[in-house]
Amino acid sequence: MSALYGTYARSELAFERGEGMRLYGQDGTPYLDFHAGIAVNALGHGDPHLVAALKAAAEKVWHTSNVFTIPEQERLGQRLVEATFADSVFFTNSGAEAIECAIKTARHHFFAKGEPDRYEIICFTGSFHGRTLGTIAAGGNPGYLEGFGPPLAGFQHLAPGNLHAVEQAIGPQTGAILIEPVQGEGGVTAMSPEFMRGLRTLCDQHGVLLILDEVQCGYGRTGKFFAHEWAGIVPDIMAVAKGIGGGFPLGACLAKGAVASSMVPGTHGSTYGGNPLACAVGNAVLDRVLAPGFLEHVDRMGQRLAWHLQQLAQRFPQYVMEMRGKGLLAGIKITPPVRDFVVRLRHDHQLLTQGAGDNVLRLLPPLIVTEADIEEAIGKIAEAFAALDAEAVSVPAGA
Ligand code: PLP
Repeated sequence: MSALYGTYARSELAFERGEGMRLYGQDGTPYLDFHAGIAVNALGHGDPHLVAALKAAAEKVWHTSNVFTIPEQERLGQRLVEATFADSVFFTNSGAEAIECAIKTARHHFFAKGEPDRYEIICFTGSFHGRTLGTIAAGGNPGYLEGFGPPLAGFQHLAPGNLHAVEQAIGPQTGAILIEPVQGEGGVTAMSPEFMRGLRTLCDQHGVLLILDEVQCGYGRTGKFFAHEWAGIVPDIMAVAKGIGGGFPLGACLAKGAVASSMVPGTHGSTYGGNPLACAVGNAVLDRVLAPGFLEHVDRMGQRLAWHLQQLAQRFPQYVMEMRGKGLLAGIKITPPVRDFVVRLRHDHQLLTQGAGDNVLRLLPPLIVTEADIEEAIGKIAEAFAALDAEAVSVPAGA
């Protein structure tokens, strides 16, 4: 009996070590990783550059506090500003904290402008923004809100894709629109570039801020540094996490200068956010993600993965209903219960994947994946489908 909270339906599988695209169980069994700790291990396992950066940082200063200057944090912040729309960065330990900071930044911006009633945020059904009280209210999933008292006020939820409905919903109290350019947990749903551009236009027309949650879809995963780049737009505020630390807990809230300017001493803080170890690793991740050719590789692998999934769908139309996602945040909506299928892939085929809402099988390999890895993973999924077929034959209908 575990001493831990029962908040996860955990597998008993524990890993001993990792190398590149593979994790090794305690008995030495290799697993092909198309899970990446849910889109975290962007550079796979045991990347020498990341290991060296963390070891070097561990020999120096582990922690000081944000009341002192942290040179690695200053450097990472500056590099993110140079590589994005943002002028200002707040570092966090997680995605939910990055979203919390985004919400607080938007609300405080209007408060400082003398419009304190403009605290409402338009969000979308199928979203996932984290598990804090604020972010479950922003996500709006009734299953995650139930039992935790009154949800934080100020969020309304619309079905994504309908610009007219968004325009209708914007009122005098609306301060921001919050959206994942590619919904991850909710079912791997990519927003169309037209919808994203339409949201940007509506925000500009109504003086509303556009907040993007790129915690899962950002940091190279779709083949651009950030997913919103596919639509040719920029947000006002953006939450980032997961890939930014490559496995070390790190997140960030990025904002335009005019939006972040009211966040003065006393408005927000974090003991650990952006500490020396996290930012040393964050800088090492960024070295790799922004190296020439890296994002082009992700884009190419995303296209190859989509092509192979298409072939799989043609071969097993009885099991694959729909293809979803963008780049290396890919999904297939399947007919067998996804929870069981994920277990089957892991247990019988040593392939690590993740389920998502709407019975979608989510494939999130490290961004260093090769086409040979993709072929191997697709082969394993095909074997699992074939095994389902064989079981259906051996147990005749009505038996
Ligand atoms: N936002 C999105 C889009 C996510 O996918 C997640 C986590 O899966 C979060 C926010 C919350 O991140 P964390 O679990 O690091 O708090």
